Amino acid sequence: MRLFEATQHFFNEAADQLAVHDSLRDLLSTPLREVQVQIPYETDAGNTACLVGYRVQHNRARGPMKGGLRYHPGVDLDEVRGLASLMTWKAAVVDLPYGGAKGGVVVDVAKVSERELERITRRFIDGIHDVIGPDVDIPAPDIGTDQRVMAWIMSQFNKYHGFNPGVVTGKAVEHYGIPGRAEATGRGAGILALKLMQRLNRDPRDTSVAVQGFGNVGSHVARFLSEAGCRIVAISDQYGARYAPAGLDIGQALRHVAQQKASINDLSEGSPISNEELLELEVDMLIPAAIGGVITEQNMSRIKASMIVEAANGPTSPAADRYLNARGVAILPDILANAGGVTASYFEWAQNRQHYRWNLHRVRSELERTLTTAYDEVCAEADSRNVSLRLAAYMIGIQRVVFATSLDGMS
Ligand code: NAD
Repeated sequence: MRLFEATQHFFNEAADQLAVHDSLRDLLSTPLREVQVQIPYETDAGNTACLVGYRVQHNRARGPMKGGLRYHPGVDLDEVRGLASLMTWKAAVVDLPYGGAKGGVVVDVAKVSERELERITRRFIDGIHDVIGPDVDIPAPDIGTDQRVMAWIMSQFNKYHGFNPGVVTGKAVEHYGIPGRAEATGRGAGILALKLMQRLNRDPRDTSVAVQGFGNVGSHVARFLSEAGCRIVAISDQYGARYAPAGLDIGQALRHVAQQKASINDLSEGSPISNEELLELEVDMLIPAAIGGVITEQNMSRIKASMIVEAANGPTSPAADRYLNARGVAILPDILANAGGVTASYFEWAQNRQHYRWNLHRVRSELERTLTTAYDEVCAEADSRNVSLRLAAYMIGIQRVVFATSLDGMS
């Protein structure tokens, strides 16, 4: 099942419970705007190449639309559409004044130079600058994009519209960003993972964890949980995974990846396993933190973890979600588990607009407060209605968007 269909499935399940009227359901299921642009750019060899980029804006009932920008060869319109709708529900669950959007470019960042990546980004912004902006739609990092890409976006947007650091978040601290944004998604997932352990009366020091993906999100969640005493027994990137039942030295893995720009595959510690094997390990907690669609009907019966924290967007298919729920696996859904990123992005955007900057301590404590409030609300909803955490999170998000939409008027 494709991502948008899967997201719609979860949306419809929650909308059924809430008896959302059909007309509103149609409105909330249809993106506000979808833009596809051609990205012609000059290669380092002097040739002209052409890529495709997307920006999908799903809903703006609760505020300007917000969502990451993904550079990955697997990007397509359906995926971006699904990710945009996830952003609407995510911003609403953590009660941020945002709607949802997402963007993507079909490109393998490993196969283009830094200068080519800059030209691609600037041409992409040429194509979409008139539909984004600090009051309209604010991009942020996602797979394959980072603070350099955010800097180029801001610079190119400013050429058209003047100085506007709030047009994009996830910027470098030295360049209108805020301390704590880069770690926020992983740290947030880590904070919520500890809360889930607490809910299930588990001691972090007796908890083994496997993390798929060791990029921005995966590396920060692995570090946070390792510092909290958990045993991180497996980590991976797109090239492969490493497994050590006694636990991996995450500090060493971070230095390995940062200093040598090396792959997890080349780590000396642990034994090599595949990404598929990582998902099926005998661990207490599984944290998908890479791409979507990794827990499906094909492998669900072999998943052994009793807790899953969805740091990635859309890692679990509806069929696998149903099966694992029935088996009693506790799944912290993506729209809550990885909401730390958009929460810190909101702090960055608000500070850009005020020309004021918080210190790291304040960013971290506001992040924890915001996520803890949302987590407590989702758990209370799940317990009172006897539904899964995912269904509860969707129900809270949908109710907030429905309320704002009805106040806004539908025509
Ligand atoms: P990233 O590009 O920094 O890292 C991605 C990681 O996944 C890398 O280690 C990469 O090697 C690995 N990977 C890529 N393809 C893979 C494959 N086919 N199999 C296994 N591993 C693969 O990206 P990120 O920002 O860490 O994003 C990871 C996930 O978190 C995505 O699902 C993203 O949508 C989600 N997310 C990110 C943020 C954020 O603030 N960056 C916020 C919310 C959600």
